[in-house]
Amino acid sequence: MSKFWSKVVHGLTPYIPGEQPKLNNLIKLNTNENPYGPSPKVIAAIQEFADDNLRLYPDPNSEALKKSIADYFNVKANQVFVGNGSDEVLAIAFQALLKHHAPILFPDITYSFYPVYCKLYEIDFKTIPLNDSFEIVLNDYLMPNGGVIFPNPNAPTGIPLTLKKIEAFLDKNIDSVVIVDEAYVDFGTESVISLIEKYKNLLVTHSFSKSRSLAGLRLGYAIGHPDLIEALIRVKDSFNSYPIDRLGLIAGIESFKDDSYFKNTCHKVIKTKLNFIEKLKALNFSVLPSGANFVFAQHTSLDGKIIVSKLRDYGIVVRRFDNPIRISSYIRFTIGSDEEMQVLLETLKLILST
Ligand SMILES: *Cc1c(COP(=O)(O)O)cnc(C)c1O
Repeated sequence: MSKFWSKVVHGLTPYIPGEQPKLNNLIKLNTNENPYGPSPKVIAAIQEFADDNLRLYPDPNSEALKKSIADYFNVKANQVFVGNGSDEVLAIAFQALLKHHAPILFPDITYSFYPVYCKLYEIDFKTIPLNDSFEIVLNDYLMPNGGVIFPNPNAPTGIPLTLKKIEAFLDKNIDSVVIVDEAYVDFGTESVISLIEKYKNLLVTHSFSKSRSLAGLRLGYAIGHPDLIEALIRVKDSFNSYPIDRLGLIAGIESFKDDSYFKNTCHKVIKTKLNFIEKLKALNFSVLPSGANFVFAQHTSLDGKIIVSKLRDYGIVVRRFDNPIRISSYIRFTIGSDEEMQVLLETLKLILST
């Protein structure tokens, strides 16, 4: 606390990301990073463009990157917005599109950054409980609102909603913006990008951090109607003219060019996940369905908190959430390589047998 702080700062409770441990040799399965590195073509491009031109500012509008994203999804460049990680894209969207007189709606168990943005921008919100199976029930969101946001698949549960269900909701919720945060969509969930032509109030956000293995580079984007995109651009240009640096621009473009590498690595993660889920069940875990690159599971007898701390003693880092209490015994396991999951399973067996 300091008398020099602005009023809003006193009330902030910042988001706490998963630990980035300083120790080497840990098996790190706590922040949903991709076990496979970025495409070798991405790395080669970064190396090639690390030159004297770095003294120059990058393109403030990231036109070339927007074009490659637009071409990939078969939309127009004015339907694409890019930012410094999808967290930044989301922050800008909260300020640009979700600040109205009615409260915005999101699930009670979801990405914990949403309430943080609400505090920062002084946006009223109301949380809607997941059902007993931890699913989002969009019919419960049919009330006057200042906007709706949810991840698909949801985090940290991993449970996906079908395109059909989201479309049925969009048919009824026509007076406010609906943001679908598709950070994990590439690991087995259906994207709703195909709906943006039909629903002018739909904004879809994606990240390069998980499926494109570029968490360290900080790139994300949004796709939606040009009017929504223009609102995001206005906020961005009132805040930071150059959020994407020269190397990020090049790497993002290369990542979209090397589609076979992208599809291959996503496929490998999905395969490892399906196998891991079966093995977890055999160890008496109840596992929620996952359309993501992580699984959310609870052991039928041993408390999650104990398992997480014992795993840590063996050098394996996973994630657990104290709040809300309904999920406090669940563990979120990021899907790593086959080798990492094998070590994890053997360690779990050891812990559960002692
Ligand atoms: C990881 C994550 C993001 C943000 O990813 P960036 O690294 O900022 O691109 C957004 N939403 C959800 C639900 C996430 O889990």
